Amino acid sequence: MKTKDIPTRVMRAASGGRFIVTIDGPAGAGKSTAARELAKRLGFTFVDTGALYRTVGVAATRAGIANTDGRALSKLLSGIIIEMRPGTDRQLVFLDERDVTEEIRTPEASMAASAVSAVPEVRAGLLDLQRRLALAGEARSVLEGRDTGTVIFPDADMKFYVDASPEVRARRRFDELSAKGAAVDPDKVFAETVERDKNDSTRAIAPLKCPDGAVRIDTSSMTVDEVVAMMETTVREKM
Ligand code: C5P
Repeated sequence: MKTKDIPTRVMRAASGGRFIVTIDGPAGAGKSTAARELAKRLGFTFVDTGALYRTVGVAATRAGIANTDGRALSKLLSGIIIEMRPGTDRQLVFLDERDVTEEIRTPEASMAASAVSAVPEVRAGLLDLQRRLALAGEARSVLEGRDTGTVIFPDADMKFYVDASPEVRARRRFDELSAKGAAVDPDKVFAETVERDKNDSTRAIAPLKCPDGAVRIDTSSMTVDEVVAMMETTVREKM
């Protein structure tokens, strides 16, 4: 193939330029673990977009703001600083210089994140931040979330849509929370999973859906290793 026949995007990737990978899907589909590991193997930046919505949810709760109040949330967003900092074995999330890495993972924070994420002002406020995080440095990133391949980077170099049955996803959430020592009720976790799915896929703005051109992966009976291996092979072929 002559140089001029190679699509620009491939040339950029081959020459060490921008390469954006997006991974979308519902809660508990196994996106986060797979995305983090994939980013590590590729040497890419990992952008956990859910962590940003969770942090806004926590900030709103702390400020006593209703998580549906667009105006108040917009004001809140313009006054807070959310940062991702590298930790020893994982990324840390800071809200106004305070480490909220653990706090944003509670079931309350999950529900708050789901609620604030339906507010247009919040989505608009986080859009630029998400793009900046992904394009920083060498602009080689793995983004994980609900609209990373549909809204944030519709022109991503590689898109994945990861899914699993609601039962499997609720089970994974339950195991994750139990492992942290939380006393959780499996029925409640299942109900919250279904509720979050409903919120995320029926909201008017940026509803969760499979992006055009995405590779679909059903992880119901796959291990994390198998998912990451499949993704890594697909990305490397594309690069
Ligand atoms: O992925 P995670 O469970 O951390 O996301 C928390 C919540 O943030 C989701 O339930 C969803 O409502 C919201 N979210 C979103 N768009 C994204 C990432 C997360 O609406 N790109």
